[in-house]
Amino acid sequence: MPKTDTGPATKPNSLVLRLAVPSPLRRLFDYLPPAGMSDEQARRLEPGIRVRVPFGSRSLVAVLTSVEAESSVPTNKLRHTLEILDAEPLLPDSLMKLYRWSAQYYQHPPGDVFQNMLPALLRQGLAPVRERPMSWQLTPKGLALQADALGRAKRQQEVIDFLQEHKELAKEDIVELEISTSAISALRKQDLIALAASLNEQTPNWHSSANEASLTLNCDQENAVSSILNSVDKFGCFLLDGITGSGKTEVYLQVITHVLREGKQALVLVPEISLTPQTIARFRRRFSCPIAMIHSGLTDKERLQAWTEAREGYAPIVIGTRSALFTPLAKPGVIILDEEHDSSFKQQDGFRYSARDLAVVRARYEDIPIVLGSATPSLESMQNALSGRFTHLTLSERAGDAMAPQLTLLDTTHEILQEGFSAPLLDMIAKHIHDGNQVLIFINRRGFSPTLQCNECGWVAECRHCDARMTLHRTPAHIRCHHCDSRSAIPWQCPDCQSKSLVPLGLGTERSESLLTRLFPDTRVLRVDRDSTRRKNSLDAMLNEVHLGQPCILIGTQMLAKGHHFPAVTLVAVLDADSGLFSADFRGQEHTAQLLVQVAGRAGRADRKGQVIIQTRHASHQTLQTLSKEGYKAFALSILQERRAAAMPPFTHLALLRAEASAFASANDFLLIVRDKVESLIAAGARGQIHSMGPMPAPMERRANKYRTQLLLCSNDRLVLQALLSQLCPDLETLKEARQVRWSIDIDPQDMI
Ligand code: ADP
Ligand code: ZN
Ligand code: ZN
Repeated sequence: MPKTDTGPATKPNSLVLRLAVPSPLRRLFDYLPPAGMSDEQARRLEPGIRVRVPFGSRSLVAVLTSVEAESSVPTNKLRHTLEILDAEPLLPDSLMKLYRWSAQYYQHPPGDVFQNMLPALLRQGLAPVRERPMSWQLTPKGLALQADALGRAKRQQEVIDFLQEHKELAKEDIVELEISTSAISALRKQDLIALAASLNEQTPNWHSSANEASLTLNCDQENAVSSILNSVDKFGCFLLDGITGSGKTEVYLQVITHVLREGKQALVLVPEISLTPQTIARFRRRFSCPIAMIHSGLTDKERLQAWTEAREGYAPIVIGTRSALFTPLAKPGVIILDEEHDSSFKQQDGFRYSARDLAVVRARYEDIPIVLGSATPSLESMQNALSGRFTHLTLSERAGDAMAPQLTLLDTTHEILQEGFSAPLLDMIAKHIHDGNQVLIFINRRGFSPTLQCNECGWVAECRHCDARMTLHRTPAHIRCHHCDSRSAIPWQCPDCQSKSLVPLGLGTERSESLLTRLFPDTRVLRVDRDSTRRKNSLDAMLNEVHLGQPCILIGTQMLAKGHHFPAVTLVAVLDADSGLFSADFRGQEHTAQLLVQVAGRAGRADRKGQVIIQTRHASHQTLQTLSKEGYKAFALSILQERRAAAMPPFTHLALLRAEASAFASANDFLLIVRDKVESLIAAGARGQIHSMGPMPAPMERRANKYRTQLLLCSNDRLVLQALLSQLCPDLETLKEARQVRWSIDIDPQDMI
């Protein structure tokens, strides 16, 4: 790195810019202000602006975190900033605080925190400018048209009529409203219509305009809305705990209506899987204002556009998945996080943050209320509600006329199963279809069957790269590892004993599909999983078909368990509840219970009563018993007691250090060194408050040819654990043993896999 030469003629700069530079190092970097900038000017630079700096031989975009009077690095070793990119901070103070908090809490490199917070184009240095929306509007000539003047050109007249009623036609609505594009161009040629800045843009008084009227709230909803609104100008965290269909969304909508009326914005976070056209349509029906949508399907340009719409306050409502949490708002009013228990709110690699936990921190910095909603609250949130940290709001009845589904256990111990289906279940399916209803079959595995086994010697097809079995797929025919995605042809004989008798073992969505298609030849069978919905819009097409309400059988994985409303489904069946009950993970019970209750919630949403059947060989299992007899809340309370007794989260705090390498020994030796360092730090300060477990091989020891091992740290005091990690992490970066391994740290890990 060439050193900046400050010769005797130039007065050395006294101020330094402290920057978050995109780098894997857990530290900030000092730079001199751009050459020629006075101290006076440098002092006025505000944290949150972007600058361009030389880094090695490259030039990178970094974020200013502070202007300091001095650096620990001698001035003559510091390089100059190349360029200041922003006149004002890109992120408001609240988000700068959130950045600081999360870099510290998650022990994550500060530069990479910003990489996660900012849209790609801003990370590349582009300006945060919003493209102004345009719409078709009548020209003076068009306005002067007599009624029915274009009578013969019917399509053109339709457009004119539309514009006379609605004043404008947004470019992106042309397709949705099925308006003829040739009519548009004909009208434009006649100078009857023209593109102009959208009226929305010209008169931003959207906050008074609701499309669809609010529903009359029931007592529980009323109480929830008024408690939240009581805290509308200050921080407050609310757990909105209500079964599926109890009207949580209606509560969100009415809180948002109020917030918009105050001229403020709402940030709505939803799990990956539920940001469906239906969700969006529901918001659009209610609100006529611009809605910025932020999710993984956007192009870089669209993402920047949505981000700037939120930041400038142009879009009063921002709906997005996990990373939308970092979207700046001009006038923050409320944060709503739906399905708060959903694991997609936790990022599982790189910057392993929990959007739920950070949303609460952000709401505090913004001084606004936050609502966490769920039919199956996470045990963390449940405990926070019990301890009074969160206000617990319960919706105990299904809204409208819908009735709550009854969970019934179907003991299959003595049943002969046909591809996983017991005879009583098949009878029930037949009956519901016969009555003109829809049926939903939930099965937690895509593919045909999870294993291919030799009948003679017991050989099973295993992945060559992972400690896992290959899943058999029929369409197209192949075997595939769901962990590293390696694929191969289906073997036609056993590699060990040459027998040709290879049989699929276990259940998969394709297998159920093929059985039901055979048994119910006259009924439509729809399979919804990651494979069948790979093509764009194929999921929407299937869901639209279901919403037509004709009798059909839906077979699906998790994709069907969340967010969707299936009013005509009257029977939900879970083929096999057992795999999750005996998971090694300490959250296994919790996740299984949430999944079962969520799936159950798909049934009988409208006026038809729903039936929920859970097939199990462990009908006396405590979790199933409590869930079916007493419901999720009773289950949650009993598991919380177990967790307290076993000193597990939320009663203790965990940090998981993971390491992986091509050789097991490299990964393990690294963690052994880490453990020794941890032990000496504990001996020096945190005796009795922290303990370490491991290193031990990860439950899946080898994945994609990497050996994986982990070290778990537990503490009953979050701050003590934080302090130890802050001392430990920078030290680990410099270890020479770290060079052969990939290691990471996961605070509040969701699973130990
Ligand atoms: P959740 O979000 O808890 O699953 P929703 O808000 O989607 O519940 O409500 C479920 C159904 O009940 C929806 O069709 C909704 O329109 C209806 N609903 C909600 N609140 C009311 C109400 N107060 N009166 C009548 N119907 C309601
Ligand atoms: Zn064999
Ligand atoms: Zn594999």
